[in-house]
Amino acid sequence: MTSEAYTVGEVDDLGDTPSHCSNCDWKGKASEAGNIGSCCLTPGDPSPVGRCPSCDSLAYVDQRPVRIVIGLDGGIIQGVTANVPVEYLVYDYDIEGSDQVATRPALDGGVVEVYDAGSYLADVNAVIIETIYKAVEAEGEAGSES
Ligand SMILES: [Zn+2]
Repeated sequence: MTSEAYTVGEVDDLGDTPSHCSNCDWKGKASEAGNIGSCCLTPGDPSPVGRCPSCDSLAYVDQRPVRIVIGLDGGIIQGVTANVPVEYLVYDYDIEGSDQVATRPALDGGVVEVYDAGSYLADVNAVIIETIYKAVEAEGEAGSES
């Protein structure tokens, strides 16, 4: 393990992006966090947004949920698209008459018999996922006005 000094070249202004402290209960906007100055970072860990205004520990942007759109036709999955890389399994409990049955851990504990299928990778398209979610959110706002 090496220890080297790095300099941050440019930081995006995240403004009102919800953020939180890694040490205390502070929650606020990214713009309220102070300059990081010098800190220790572990490769693979998230990047801090700044220093907590309450306790000076590193603060981070709140993790946004992974967004996924699953296309079905007649109960059959046609495609899965996500805003970040996602690997998924399908548990098809309709195994009647099938000779391709696997016994797997059940989601609520114990075991369950499902159609024997491997895992899949979702298509990744952050732009279209954002467009779809905005359209759905706009529908919700329009619906509440009527
Ligand atoms: Zn804090």
